[in-house]
Amino acid sequence: MVATPPTEPTRPALGILLRRALRLKCPACGEHKIFRSLLTMEDACPACGRNFDRAPGYLLGSIYFNYGVTAMLVVILFFSLFFSKTLTGNQLLWVLSGFGLLFPLWFFRYARALWIAFDERWDPWPNEEEQRRLASSNGRAARSE
Ligand SMILES: [Zn+2]
Repeated sequence: MVATPPTEPTRPALGILLRRALRLKCPACGEHKIFRSLLTMEDACPACGRNFDRAPGYLLGSIYFNYGVTAMLVVILFFSLFFSKTLTGNQLLWVLSGFGLLFPLWFFRYARALWIAFDERWDPWPNEEEQRRLASSNGRAARSE
Protein backbone atom coordinates (compact mmCIF):
# COMPACT_ATOMS: atom_id res chain seq x y z
CA MET A 1 0.00 0.00 0.00
CA VAL A 2 1.29 3.46 -0.92
CA ALA A 3 1.27 6.10 1.79
CA THR A 4 -0.31 9.38 0.73
CA PRO A 5 1.80 12.46 1.35
CA PRO A 6 0.45 15.01 3.81
CA THR A 7 -1.75 17.55 2.09
CA GLU A 8 -0.31 21.02 1.74
CA PRO A 9 -2.44 24.11 1.44
CA THR A 10 -3.05 24.87 -2.23
CA ARG A 11 -1.16 27.83 -3.58
CA PRO A 12 -2.77 29.81 -6.38
CA ALA A 13 -0.43 30.64 -9.26
CA LEU A 14 1.41 33.95 -9.13
CA GLY A 15 -0.61 35.38 -12.05
CA ILE A 16 -3.89 34.54 -10.33
CA LEU A 17 -2.69 36.11 -7.07
CA LEU A 18 -1.60 39.25 -8.92
CA ARG A 19 -4.95 39.51 -10.72
CA ARG A 20 -6.86 39.07 -7.46
CA ALA A 21 -4.70 41.70 -5.73
CA LEU A 22 -5.25 44.24 -8.50
CA ARG A 23 -9.01 43.64 -8.21
CA LEU A 24 -8.68 43.99 -4.39
CA LYS A 25 -10.07 40.47 -3.89
CA CYS A 26 -9.20 37.78 -1.36
CA PRO A 27 -5.98 36.11 -2.53
CA ALA A 28 -7.02 32.67 -1.31
CA CYS A 29 -10.42 32.34 -3.04
CA GLY A 30 -10.88 35.50 -5.13
CA GLU A 31 -14.53 35.67 -4.08
CA HIS A 32 -14.79 38.68 -1.77
CA LYS A 33 -13.27 42.14 -1.62
CA ILE A 34 -10.57 42.82 0.96
CA PHE A 35 -11.91 46.33 1.71
CA ARG A 36 -15.35 46.99 3.18
CA SER A 37 -15.14 50.69 2.31
CA LEU A 38 -12.53 53.07 0.91
CA LEU A 39 -10.15 52.66 3.86
CA THR A 40 -11.70 49.93 6.03
CA MET A 41 -10.54 46.35 5.59
CA GLU A 42 -12.55 43.24 6.33
CA ASP A 43 -11.08 41.21 9.21
CA ALA A 44 -11.39 37.97 7.28
CA CYS A 45 -12.83 36.76 3.98
CA PRO A 46 -16.54 35.91 4.45
CA ALA A 47 -16.23 33.15 1.83
CA CYS A 48 -13.12 31.21 2.85
CA GLY A 49 -12.25 32.66 6.28
CA ARG A 50 -8.77 33.84 5.21
CA ASN A 51 -7.60 36.25 7.89
CA PHE A 52 -6.41 39.48 6.22
CA ASP A 53 -4.55 40.87 9.25
CA ARG A 54 -2.66 37.83 10.47
CA ALA A 55 -0.70 39.41 13.33
CA PRO A 56 0.06 42.78 14.89
CA GLY A 57 2.23 44.74 12.45
CA TYR A 58 1.59 42.28 9.64
CA LEU A 59 0.24 44.89 7.24
CA LEU A 60 3.31 47.12 7.63
CA GLY A 61 4.87 45.05 4.85
CA SER A 62 2.54 46.76 2.40
CA ILE A 63 4.57 49.95 2.91
CA TYR A 64 7.43 48.29 1.01
CA PHE A 65 5.15 47.73 -1.97
CA ASN A 66 3.78 51.27 -1.81
CA TYR A 67 7.21 52.87 -1.47
CA GLY A 68 8.82 50.65 -4.09
CA VAL A 69 6.19 51.25 -6.76
CA THR A 70 6.07 55.00 -6.02
CA ALA A 71 9.87 55.37 -6.15
CA MET A 72 10.09 53.36 -9.37
CA LEU A 73 7.40 55.47 -11.06
CA VAL A 74 8.97 58.76 -9.89
CA VAL A 75 12.33 57.70 -11.36
CA ILE A 76 10.72 56.65 -14.66
CA LEU A 77 8.67 59.87 -14.82
CA PHE A 78 11.70 62.00 -13.95
CA PHE A 79 13.87 60.62 -16.71
CA SER A 80 11.14 60.56 -19.33
CA LEU A 81 10.06 64.14 -18.55
CA PHE A 82 13.64 65.37 -18.14
CA PHE A 83 14.79 64.07 -21.50
CA SER A 84 11.60 65.04 -23.32
CA LYS A 85 12.25 68.64 -22.16
CA THR A 86 8.50 69.30 -21.88
CA LEU A 87 8.81 70.84 -18.41
CA THR A 88 11.25 73.25 -16.82
CA GLY A 89 13.24 72.07 -13.80
CA ASN A 90 10.87 73.84 -11.38
CA GLN A 91 7.76 72.43 -13.06
CA LEU A 92 9.31 68.97 -12.99
CA LEU A 93 9.97 69.33 -9.26
CA TRP A 94 6.35 70.34 -8.54
CA VAL A 95 4.81 67.66 -10.74
CA LEU A 96 6.93 64.86 -9.28
CA SER A 97 6.47 66.12 -5.70
CA GLY A 98 2.71 66.13 -6.19
CA PHE A 99 2.84 62.69 -7.72
CA GLY A 100 5.02 61.44 -4.86
CA LEU A 101 2.44 62.68 -2.34
CA LEU A 102 -0.80 61.70 -4.07
CA PHE A 103 0.07 58.40 -5.72
CA PRO A 104 0.83 56.50 -2.46
CA LEU A 105 -2.53 57.63 -1.04
CA TRP A 106 -4.35 56.25 -4.07
CA PHE A 107 -2.17 53.12 -4.20
CA PHE A 108 -2.60 52.31 -0.47
CA ARG A 109 -5.32 49.69 -1.01
CA TYR A 110 -3.50 48.04 -3.89
CA ALA A 111 -0.27 47.92 -1.88
CA ARG A 112 -2.09 46.12 0.93
CA ALA A 113 -3.75 43.71 -1.49
CA LEU A 114 -0.37 43.04 -3.15
CA TRP A 115 1.25 42.44 0.24
CA ILE A 116 -1.48 39.99 1.28
CA ALA A 117 -1.24 38.20 -2.08
CA PHE A 118 2.56 38.05 -1.80
CA ASP A 119 2.19 36.59 1.68
CA GLU A 120 -0.40 34.09 0.47
CA ARG A 121 2.10 32.89 -2.12
CA TRP A 122 4.95 32.27 0.34
CA ASP A 123 3.05 31.49 3.55
CA PRO A 124 -0.49 30.33 2.67
CA TRP A 125 -3.13 30.84 5.32
CA PRO A 126 -3.54 29.02 7.69
CA ASN A 127 0.03 28.04 8.54
CA GLU A 128 0.71 25.46 11.26
CA GLU A 129 0.50 27.93 14.15
CA GLU A 130 -2.74 29.42 12.83
CA GLN A 131 -4.20 25.93 12.36
CA ARG A 132 -3.41 25.12 16.01
CA ARG A 133 -4.96 28.42 17.13
CA LEU A 134 -8.07 27.78 15.04
CA ALA A 135 -8.39 24.23 16.37
CA SER A 136 -8.05 25.37 19.97
CA SER A 137 -10.55 28.22 19.53
CA ASN A 138 -13.00 25.82 17.82
CA GLY A 139 -12.56 23.40 20.73
CA ARG A 140 -13.24 26.19 23.22
CA ALA A 141 -16.33 27.28 21.26
CA ALA A 142 -17.62 23.68 21.16
CA ARG A 143 -17.10 23.25 24.94
CA SER A 144 -18.90 26.51 25.78
CA GLU A 145 -22.03 25.40 23.88
ZN1 LIG B 1 -11.50 34.21 0.49
